[in-house]
Amino acid sequence: MAEPYDLVVIGGGPGGYVAAIRAAQLGLRAACIERRATLGGTCLNIGCIPSKALLQSSEKFAEARRGLAEHGLILGEVGLDLAAMMARKDSVVATLTRGVEFLFRKNKVDWLKGSARIAAPGRVALTGADGAASEVAARAIAIATGSESARLPGLDIDERRIVSSTGALSFDRVPERLAVIGGGYIGLELGSVWSRLGAKVTIVEFLDRILPNMDRELGPALQRILARGGVAFKLGTKVVAGRADGDHATLELESVAGGERSELVADAVLVAIGRRPNTEGLGLEALGVALDRTGHIAVDDGFATNVPGIYAIGDVIRGPMLAHKAMDEGSALAEHLAGQKPDIYYNAIPAVVYTWPEVASVGETEAELQQSGVDYRVGKFPFTATPRARTNGETEGFVKILAERASDRVLGVHIIGPDAGTMIAEAALAMEFAATAEDIARTSHAHPTLSEAMKEAALAVDGRAIHA
Ligand SMILES: Cc1cc2nc3c(=O)[nH]c(=O)nc-3n(C[C@H](O)[C@H](O)[C@H](O)COP(=O)(O)OP(=O)(O)OC[C@H]3O[C@@H](n4cnc5c(N)ncnc54)[C@H](O)[C@@H]3O)c2cc1C
Repeated sequence: MAEPYDLVVIGGGPGGYVAAIRAAQLGLRAACIERRATLGGTCLNIGCIPSKALLQSSEKFAEARRGLAEHGLILGEVGLDLAAMMARKDSVVATLTRGVEFLFRKNKVDWLKGSARIAAPGRVALTGADGAASEVAARAIAIATGSESARLPGLDIDERRIVSSTGALSFDRVPERLAVIGGGYIGLELGSVWSRLGAKVTIVEFLDRILPNMDRELGPALQRILARGGVAFKLGTKVVAGRADGDHATLELESVAGGERSELVADAVLVAIGRRPNTEGLGLEALGVALDRTGHIAVDDGFATNVPGIYAIGDVIRGPMLAHKAMDEGSALAEHLAGQKPDIYYNAIPAVVYTWPEVASVGETEAELQQSGVDYRVGKFPFTATPRARTNGETEGFVKILAERASDRVLGVHIIGPDAGTMIAEAALAMEFAATAEDIARTSHAHPTLSEAMKEAALAVDGRAIHA
């Protein structure tokens, strides 16, 4: 066998490709094994990027149809060329996945094409698309195999009538009625896409609010706005059975509280109830690699599994299933292997829902602070009082800052509003640097920008917002 690699990463998603590139930057000899025909993993191929491309296109469509007359712009009839919209999405994906290939070449990372299984610590068995078997040796092996859509028992996904997020990214026509099972970010984003394009969307959620993991004010606020745009919600509702019948699908629903039964008929059903770690087929059981209670690969702070020389990062380990979290872990793992001491502050990892308006959070929610008995103050500021939001005609939502009462340290920031996903970066930076609300309040924020709402919310923590 040839000289071993310093690092072989299994999986070319955001966790894996970043780990390989960072390792190469640090002088390690790195390879990345990916079985898909393109690099970039779930995120670039069937996740973050295609969904954001469709969100952007569908938002433009909705705006052209409804939103421009108040700006004095009179358009003629606005039509939809879905095939062109899909082709644009595909071309964005192709450009970015080829970009990762370019980065591999630039950094001298070898892309080994095929499906990997760990034969033993230090040895990875590779099966190419043509079935050819080979083996590579590695001083360290990183599992970055990501996740896949969780299935609902009894509901067969055919990716035509009953689809996962992957199918919902490529419908060839707008379904007249779309049922979405799950009120998390994937269901809400893809539900928004198809609602804007003309589908009658119903979101079915088991819990009593959408975005159940975020601060409790955010979900209901988003629900009110989406409902105004025509999206229907069935909360506290369980899907007990479902079937595809020819040209439509029928879901049997049951209310969680009362047990009343009802039926929901739709032309397509999107199952978006979460994602599960991809641990199968890697030989983990034979190697004795331990999983945690949730089925993720168990790792220590340096991403080491219980088997020496085998590491894991990204969606396949604990923590939020987010691309930037996977990337941060990819870098940190490579730095660990190169002898550095990187550290990820997990509490400062933001989460964004790219609906309109966007929803973004970092740090703790009010419920979490109450549960742990922390004494905190709240500063809240609405976009209605933010001049730039007025000029843009996008005044929905607010910024909410939670700061510890005694120290004024920022513990959590929760935003619903225009461009919340960009604004949350300031809050993440503040938390990373252990800033106080006063630090944000004293920082000059350009006028007129949406970020002024962040400054005002920070002032509001101390009861001294100027513009509200
Ligand atoms: C519809 C949708 C929208 C999303 N939007 C966002 C978003 O806006 N922002 C965000 O942060 N996150 C988003 N995510 C989540 C994000 O895609 C994941 O958190 C991220 O891709 C995880 O990265 P990863 O590297 O851990 O794994 P993945 O990206 O899942 O990559 C794993 C790769 O490993 C490969 N692989 C698996 N097993 C093997 C094997 N045995 N041999 C060889 N290769 C293998 C797979 O083919 C895959 O390419 C979205 C996900 C979905 C589904």
